[in-house]
Amino acid sequence: MTKFTATSESSAEPQPESVTGKWHTFTCDDVCVHLDCGRDGLSSSEARDRLVRYGPNSLPTARPRSAAFRFAMQFHNLLIYVLMVAAGVTGLMGHWIDTSVILAVCILNAVIGFVQEGKAEETLRAISRMLSPQAAVLRDGHRQTIPAQDLVPGDVVMLEPGDRIPADLRLLSVKSLRVLESALTGESVAVSKSTEPVAENTALGDRASMAFGGTMIAGGQGRGIVVRTGRDTEIGRINALLHEVVDLTTPLLRQMSQFARVLTAAILLLAAGVFSIGVLGQGLGIQETFIAVVSLAVAAIPEGLPAILTVAMAIGVQRMAGRNAIIRRLPAVETLGAVSVICSDKTGTLTRNEMTAQSVWLAGRHVRVDGTGYAPHGGFSIEGRDHRVDDIPGLTELARIAALCNDAHLHQKDGAWQIEGDPMEGALQVLALKAGLDRGHELGLYPRTDVVPFDSRHKFMATLHHDHQSHDMVFIKGAPEKIIAMSRQERAADGGEVGIDVEKWLSAIDRLAGDGQRVLGIGVKAMPGGTTELEFDDVTGGMVMIGLIGMIDPPRSEAIAAVADCRAAGIRVKMITGDHSGTARAIGAQLGLENSDTVLTGPVLDTMSDDELRDRVTTADIFARTSPENKLRLVTALQAHGHVVAMTGDGVNDSPALKRSDVGIAMGISGTEAAKEAAEMVLGDDNFASIANAVREGRTVHDNLKKAIVFLLPVNGGESLGVLFAILLGMTLPITPLQILWVNMVSSIGLALTLAFERAEDDIMSRPPRDPRRPIVSGFLMWRIIFVSCLFMAGIFGTFEMAQHLGADVATARTLAVNALVAMEVFYLFSVRYLSRTSLTLTGAMGTKPVLLAISSVLVLQLSFTYLPPVQILFDSRPISVVQGLGVISTGVVLFLVLEIEKMLRRLWEK
Ligand code: ATP
Repeated sequence: MTKFTATSESSAEPQPESVTGKWHTFTCDDVCVHLDCGRDGLSSSEARDRLVRYGPNSLPTARPRSAAFRFAMQFHNLLIYVLMVAAGVTGLMGHWIDTSVILAVCILNAVIGFVQEGKAEETLRAISRMLSPQAAVLRDGHRQTIPAQDLVPGDVVMLEPGDRIPADLRLLSVKSLRVLESALTGESVAVSKSTEPVAENTALGDRASMAFGGTMIAGGQGRGIVVRTGRDTEIGRINALLHEVVDLTTPLLRQMSQFARVLTAAILLLAAGVFSIGVLGQGLGIQETFIAVVSLAVAAIPEGLPAILTVAMAIGVQRMAGRNAIIRRLPAVETLGAVSVICSDKTGTLTRNEMTAQSVWLAGRHVRVDGTGYAPHGGFSIEGRDHRVDDIPGLTELARIAALCNDAHLHQKDGAWQIEGDPMEGALQVLALKAGLDRGHELGLYPRTDVVPFDSRHKFMATLHHDHQSHDMVFIKGAPEKIIAMSRQERAADGGEVGIDVEKWLSAIDRLAGDGQRVLGIGVKAMPGGTTELEFDDVTGGMVMIGLIGMIDPPRSEAIAAVADCRAAGIRVKMITGDHSGTARAIGAQLGLENSDTVLTGPVLDTMSDDELRDRVTTADIFARTSPENKLRLVTALQAHGHVVAMTGDGVNDSPALKRSDVGIAMGISGTEAAKEAAEMVLGDDNFASIANAVREGRTVHDNLKKAIVFLLPVNGGESLGVLFAILLGMTLPITPLQILWVNMVSSIGLALTLAFERAEDDIMSRPPRDPRRPIVSGFLMWRIIFVSCLFMAGIFGTFEMAQHLGADVATARTLAVNALVAMEVFYLFSVRYLSRTSLTLTGAMGTKPVLLAISSVLVLQLSFTYLPPVQILFDSRPISVVQGLGVISTGVVLFLVLEIEKMLRRLWEK
């Protein structure tokens, strides 16, 4: 084995290749000497200097697709192909104006698509940047959480289950550490790690002394020293680029572009049919019929639809991010709108996770703890009378165990007390300080040599300590029933040990839990002399029960409001917690869950068959003492009832349930990387209210997509019906193909785009959840599309015929028809903003900023279409008089009123 020999001129300069490739062969001491650092990490100033020297710990990102390529891709679209063929044929026929306008439309369409897609991609990229990983390091002698990209060689990183390893590490200590290295080696089984050096030519997958950046901790704990960062890491060398894939499509968008394709094909078939009837049946000229048929195709195809839907989706994602709900996979936006059950964790999501120990139960006595928050000020009282710590037997021992079987760090910043680590453990540090014990000092008296870390499956944490009289002992804290089950004895008031009175402890637990307190049991066990390692089996029996600690963790007020909102929206909220059933019931009642009487516990769930669980799952809303495996079964049982389930999670074991649920939601603050990667959405603030907000946004996006479809399809429908009838009846076309293109590209897209920005309608959270199996266009919407198509056709034809009847020439009558069509679109936009409610309200009439902006630009464009000579030449338009203009506007008004009457009749009929 090659070993590195420390030299006197060791430094933290970038390492030569002869060293960087061999870290796995070094002992930990050699690594420290070579990197000029200690096992307790760097100071902040040293880390800052090293960051300048080594650069950030990040991989270069893949260059986004080039702008030219993205622009070219806009032409790769069936519709554009149709238009380009039309441009070619009209060119061959010598209709140069038509050719150039059609080509201009193709380019305009590409520009709009290019700009919108670019914006949507940028939004998604910015959102993925919000999820940049963090790392827990030792800096200035204590634990800190920093952005992973600030790590430098020499930093000491702490590793916990579910973490993604942030850089290449030489391991300093491990406790059952298992790492999933599939990202690097392709091996799907987790490998065990150790701290012993390995031979130089050991294969990457067998370098047990190293933890490699980009791999994931499957279990256990550990600490390692950063030896390589950024592109120098193994993963950086293999895969020098971080691929940021921005996928803008979702099932609905795919469904809609599929629909657009089928529609285009059907339209082309119809056009071919109409062409044959015109030429063969009615004996019309080929050229004339071809132009008419081109206008039919152009009229019928909803050019802007896919682009508008993508924009609506991207805006939804952006709005959600503004409300702390970060979407990782775009389809979640759609699914969120259909969620019918939300399964939420309790601690930190529904409650504040700002814990305060309020009660201590020792040898049959209930001790009250004064003070709130993390400030360690407050005393102890029994039955209303203050007591000194020394006068309460067992309190010091209990506080010592609470402080030492603990990984949190309490510190003061700008005068305020803050916690680094688990808030519950922080609350225990505060309790210990109130009892006069400082963790640092106690650790000096009782050094810790080993730990069994907390795991939500076994629900306790144990540590091995030694005092200066060579006594070895295990300190344990955890779910109280667990500690009771491990104990045969309990601490008596005189400091001795007596047989445990299980009933007494259980009733004390019930009392504390009934107040909504989170209860923790504390125990101790003497170990045989010379014990230096702690095994799981050492702690499963022989404990002495010391006492209970009750902590309050009140519900978040915004969570109470959000639960009420969800209930009004027909969404059932279920609380799934690892906590005690009594605590869960009390908190569930405070939150206003629909059924807070029934509590199903994990052990009971374990005894139920899948069928039984399916029967019980819909009525119960509180699930206590659950394990991550229970979560998976609950999701499956709820889905069997046809529910669309959103499920929250934070730990590495929650990943299967997050993946299985329809919308997996990971906690952004307390969640592990593994949970985040399994989830569709990440909560920036771990707050339940953000889930309710995301559902609201999801419903809004869905509404806006519907509105855009219901707006665009009838415009195309009306135009094509007009053309179709004109051809079939052998009449003059009321609008030319070029004019149709003008309307479709200039006003329809601009107006429809505003619908992507619409805010939620007032009743959005008082409707029941949408049935995800129902197609977006069904029943009512289908009727609306057909009805409005007919109204548009009547408006176009009516205006054209009436104008001719009143003596206008064909070009002027067409100009009037085009303007009437645009006026109808503008009024229809106001109508469609509220699908079934009246639009005749002040807010309805005021519109929104995007609506007003779009209408103003459409007005300017229509004025130039009508009065600007060069545009007149292009589109064969004519100026119109004021009276004619008023007539045009009245067409829009009539359409609006007819639709208001239709909405009113519908509302009456639905009552
Ligand atoms: P939720 O699942 O709603 O977030 P939870 O935090 O109570 O609730 P778990 O983290 O699984 O769920 O904890 C389950 C139980 O394990 C707790 O009620 C507590 O008794 C015990 N416990 C939690 N954290 C620790 C810890 N750090 N050390 C020892 N025991 C713990």
